[in-house]
Amino acid sequence: MPKKPAKKAVKASPQRAAKKSPKPIPLKSGPQKPRPWTPAEVHEAFSRFRKANPEPKGELEHLNPYTLLVAVVLSAQATDAGVNKATRALFAVADTPQKMIALGEEKVREYIKTIGLYRNKAKNVIALSEKLIAEFGDEVPRTRAEIETLPGAGRKTANVVLNMAFGEHTMAVDTHVFRVGNRTGLAPGNTPLEVEQGLEKVIPSEFMLHAHHWLILHGRYTCLARKPRCEVCLINDLCRWPEKTV
Ligand code: SF4
Repeated sequence: MPKKPAKKAVKASPQRAAKKSPKPIPLKSGPQKPRPWTPAEVHEAFSRFRKANPEPKGELEHLNPYTLLVAVVLSAQATDAGVNKATRALFAVADTPQKMIALGEEKVREYIKTIGLYRNKAKNVIALSEKLIAEFGDEVPRTRAEIETLPGAGRKTANVVLNMAFGEHTMAVDTHVFRVGNRTGLAPGNTPLEVEQGLEKVIPSEFMLHAHHWLILHGRYTCLARKPRCEVCLINDLCRWPEKTV
């Protein structure tokens, strides 16, 4: 018996298929990613920061690149106010690597004993001073790689020094900048380095000299860790944080 031709599979037209199988659209699990900032929005945010505070200053007191370097090394896990309290007297007697070495580790320790981890920090201050004399002609070097070789100095220290002492367009990411970068959605990242690179990518060059300070000050006084002051925040209309209170 001749075989019956196999039934041709009939493709449903898109409309029919849609009618036939109204499959529910699966809900995405987890929070939705916020829409990235447009270049115009980033420009607007930093224009507002600039208008409100055209010449932002860092809060770590220092007299020259060397004392800035020492102050930043001392500021790890300490507040700027606490560091300033100790360094005012220290820098009055030792504002160069030679003077610091002449003072000696024990005396340095005495000056900074109100700062956390002061024993280790005193050791680092002496060791970095010795290295500056031995390898860098008593000067703070001007590259990140060189600064990072100094005892107690990491990437954040290098970025602060390069920005504040030498006017480089670096972005030092501390706890405040890390929080602001993530919350606002300006530069989300799991590590300080990711946030640093994200911010460098989106912030226009015209703002980079002061961007680090604007973001630190924003995090320190407005976008507070526990209770952000969204109602007085300059960029509350642009911020992508789903939990913002405005
Ligand atoms: S709106 Fe609130 S969460 Fe967003 S940046 Fe401003 S203070 Fe921070």
